[in-house]
Amino acid sequence: MLGVTNRMDVNSNHDQGQTLPFHAYPHQGQELLGAVTGANCRHEYGLRFLQITGQHTCAYCGLNLVETYENWLTMALDHVVPDNVCKAWGLPHNWKEDYSNRVLCCTACNTFGNRYTPKEYTCPTTLEEFYAVRDRIFLERKTLREAEILVYPDADVGAMVRNHLPRSGSRERRCSRRAMAS
Ligand SMILES: [Zn+2]
Repeated sequence: MLGVTNRMDVNSNHDQGQTLPFHAYPHQGQELLGAVTGANCRHEYGLRFLQITGQHTCAYCGLNLVETYENWLTMALDHVVPDNVCKAWGLPHNWKEDYSNRVLCCTACNTFGNRYTPKEYTCPTTLEEFYAVRDRIFLERKTLREAEILVYPDADVGAMVRNHLPRSGSRERRCSRRAMAS
């Protein structure tokens, strides 16, 4: 049977001090909320998601996605139990595509989540089991995201990226010298 069981296990083993965003969803995120439809997150289903759940920050990094225009540009909806996992398990389409299997997140965290593959789970057979898997996967992915932030704090990432930039300083100096000469 399942390696995952009930909400009690989820809370005691993984939810140490962390709040699952699903608790704020209608029915505490334990019932289907409707299919995510439409082609555009920022103008369609993302806004519908805001209306339904009240969530407006990235579920992984906390970025406020409605605070500024630039933040809003990064608004995405993430499948918590990933699309490929749902397909491998042969789960009902309406479970996978439901608002209850989504969290609001920024584009960066959404991309990061694509590298995650759960290995230890077996296929949930009921909606209740599906939500238990969803909760555990969410917390695992959030932990992974936070670990990456710890490994690469902003300043280090800046240095790392700069090290990969082409060294254009000398050319710029030559150009400015030429400009001064003319
Ligand atoms: Zn984020």
